Amino acid sequence: MTPYLAEVGQVEYLATISGERTCRGWQQEGIYRLLCNVLSPEVAEDPDEFIVYGGGRAVRDRIALDMLLKILRDLRDDETVLVQSGKPVAVFRTHPLAPRVLMSTAMMVPQWSDWGTFRALEQKGLTMYGQSTAASWSYIGAQGILQNTFETLWDAASRWFEGSLQGRLVLTSGLGGMGCAQPLAVEMNGGVALVVEPDAEKVMKRLQTRHVQVATDDVDEACRMVREAVKLRLSRTVALIGNAGEVYPQLAAKGLCPDIVTDQTSAHDLLNGYLPAGMTVDEARQLRVADPVEYTRRAEATLVRHVRAMLDFQSMGAVVFEYGNHLRAQAVQAGVAEAEHIPSFITLFARERLAQGATPLRWIALSADPEDIFTVDDWLANEFPHDDRLMTWLRWARERVHFQGLPARSAWLTAEQRTSLVEVLSEWVRRGTLTAPVAVTRDHFAGATMASPHRETEALPDGSDAIADWPVLNGLLLASMGATLVSIQQGGGVGIGYSMHTGTVVVLDGDATRQVLAQQALHAELELGILRYADAGEPGAKERARSLASSPDVWLRRSDSHG
Ligand code: NAD
Repeated sequence: MTPYLAEVGQVEYLATISGERTCRGWQQEGIYRLLCNVLSPEVAEDPDEFIVYGGGRAVRDRIALDMLLKILRDLRDDETVLVQSGKPVAVFRTHPLAPRVLMSTAMMVPQWSDWGTFRALEQKGLTMYGQSTAASWSYIGAQGILQNTFETLWDAASRWFEGSLQGRLVLTSGLGGMGCAQPLAVEMNGGVALVVEPDAEKVMKRLQTRHVQVATDDVDEACRMVREAVKLRLSRTVALIGNAGEVYPQLAAKGLCPDIVTDQTSAHDLLNGYLPAGMTVDEARQLRVADPVEYTRRAEATLVRHVRAMLDFQSMGAVVFEYGNHLRAQAVQAGVAEAEHIPSFITLFARERLAQGATPLRWIALSADPEDIFTVDDWLANEFPHDDRLMTWLRWARERVHFQGLPARSAWLTAEQRTSLVEVLSEWVRRGTLTAPVAVTRDHFAGATMASPHRETEALPDGSDAIADWPVLNGLLLASMGATLVSIQQGGGVGIGYSMHTGTVVVLDGDATRQVLAQQALHAELELGILRYADAGEPGAKERARSLASSPDVWLRRSDSHG
């Protein structure tokens, strides 16, 4: 074991020490544990390269990691560490109620903000790509995306298929860190999934973790299996070893007509995340290094075939959508202008709920004790028994989510549910009902936390899709309200130049003043999310905003002018 892995192996250590601290206070300790957690081998896709998921790093390099761990151990209760793209750059004397960690990741002056420039700077060791929750140390493994995908498919079922995916076929591709959630989420919604993935090793791994039920490399066999399951209305998930650029057109030619078609390849990064057709994974790896320009050209040609087949499925009547990976923009750039007709999952499904203040929240047991999470699950089940969606998710989560690293739970909660939960968590930490403090965090995917014109802010009524002031305001607000960690980032989900977003962590440590601040901060960001969409003229959000305490008259008058 290298010294680095020994350090990161703290998660195991945490499981045994339970309540004991390594740092001076629980605020620092909570963040310290989250950093160890995202880089632990159970959570990170490639801990040796500090890659947590989707190519996103938690820290710049080994030296930065060692420094950060040491700084966090020594950090006083009135100090704040500044992290510049995964590298600590300064510790300032602030005050006890200030954040303990402030971060800025992958930020570039807009004119220079493209992959080419970014990669050149990254190679010089000057920056890092942080995806979303990788850089803000709040990734909890596959559960976060599983929960979001469950919600997306639940919405699709409610809107088009009488509330269930039984007897419905979902075609998708990519079984990576995020993509592996898709077949399981289809299963949770009662449907049939066919997932195309070229990397046989990944397929085997997903079979072992029960993300997918069966695998084949034979297109005809795959078709037979899914057709049979659809006919018998069985829930079945099939991985097909192949390349989407080859297999999607073949399936269309064979007359297979799925009900839903999407994709979860890392299309946002053609060089590192998307496999050209006609190559094995090893051949692709070699070409990527030997001739990146040729690699990108081939990847782009494959993506064109992949997206054209999706458009064919769309004209056959399938519900086709992009699942937040920048696929359409890449296709448009490669000359498939009609790719613009593919909607995003945000406008189709999530926007309406986000505009009402419903957001994905996650809470992480710093004790490393799963019982802390189960206790909260039980409370939610008792408190909101009539919320079918939440109950279905919690039931499946309890049965099928294998905690990776620190036990955690993610759930989409309404504004009211979120407020009650944070109150209960605070109270239970204070009273000792939970074994140790809890970190509350979230995906970057919400109203004011993300500006991303091909995802969260696509097609806003007032055309403010590319306005990125909101996530910056969100970060500033959270910092001023004393969140434990605040992180401003760019490029998550869709790649460099295409998104700006904010991450946060609040450590609920039982301290009365901190608790009040934490509750206020989490509530404020929820309100800001509603205000952002209301300001853009989203009808549901405008109604909701009128009931918010923070909504000033001046602002409402302006927003009304959008009609
Ligand atoms: P990943 O890199 O771990 O996995 C991508 C998978 O796609 C790999 O297994 C790869 O082998 C496979 N793949 C590559 N080219 C392929 C091809 N031509 N045909 C079929 N499969 C191919 O990435 P990930 O973490 O799973 O994320 C996937 C994408 O989703 C990324 O673009 C990411 O930014 C985006 N994302 C979306 C959301 C969301 O909310 N929907 C959230 C986070 C990330």
